[in-house]
Amino acid sequence: MRTPIIVGNWKMNLNRAEAVALADALVAAIRAAIGGKNVEVGACPPSVYLDCVGHRLAGSPIGLGAQNMYHQPSGAFTGETSPKMLRDLGCKYVILGHSERRQFFAETDAEVFKKTRAALVHGLVPIVCVGESLAQRQAGKTHDVVAAQFQGSLSGLSAEEIAVCVIAYEPVWAIGTGVVATPQQAQEVHLDLRKLLLSRYNSRVASAVRIQYGGSVNAQNAADLLQKPDVDGALVGGASLKAADFLKIVSVA
Ligand code: PEP
Repeated sequence: MRTPIIVGNWKMNLNRAEAVALADALVAAIRAAIGGKNVEVGACPPSVYLDCVGHRLAGSPIGLGAQNMYHQPSGAFTGETSPKMLRDLGCKYVILGHSERRQFFAETDAEVFKKTRAALVHGLVPIVCVGESLAQRQAGKTHDVVAAQFQGSLSGLSAEEIAVCVIAYEPVWAIGTGVVATPQQAQEVHLDLRKLLLSRYNSRVASAVRIQYGGSVNAQNAADLLQKPDVDGALVGGASLKAADFLKIVSVA
């Protein structure tokens, strides 16, 4: 039985006071939202607010996560954040290979793989994003694109390493657009990913790895998506900035 995982990606939003207020609002109501159910919850604020938000989340069931990192532990890499630093700040998760990083910062599968391995070495849970663009879906290439991203970003990991990772299927056309994948569309790709895990690894790995859906998840559509057998949680952007909406998604997980 896979534990559902709901993670908020706050992206490059909020100021310090707003980030702290959002963290406080989540902490105040998270236990009621979880309600004794088996669900894992994370929040990924902007890196400059990891420290202050981490202090507010400490002792709560909400794990702290980062939105990106560099693969080296330290050194002359101006402007970057290392996995060691993220651990030092109390991070549990790190989102890697988000489509915005692939699109705007030219991040490649090879880089995502290096980051994923480095995150694991330092005890972080990588949330590795894959997903096709609208043009790729319309050209019938969804399977090939996702398989290539899986191959390049993840398949070099050992069975022990991949078992720790969370995969986030995030169709690019659904991110921040309000156009959510249908539960059936999400389920199809999640099942595809599980088959890829089975053929590269084994049935234990394929049944253990959690695959989140991300892309315009909100308090209204989450229940239908999360009902699908291979949808093990959600990576939530816009709706994670409103405590009530995010908590509702947690409560239906
Ligand atoms: C995301 O960027 O990870 C995301 C899922 O965004 P949104 O929920 O806003 O579509």
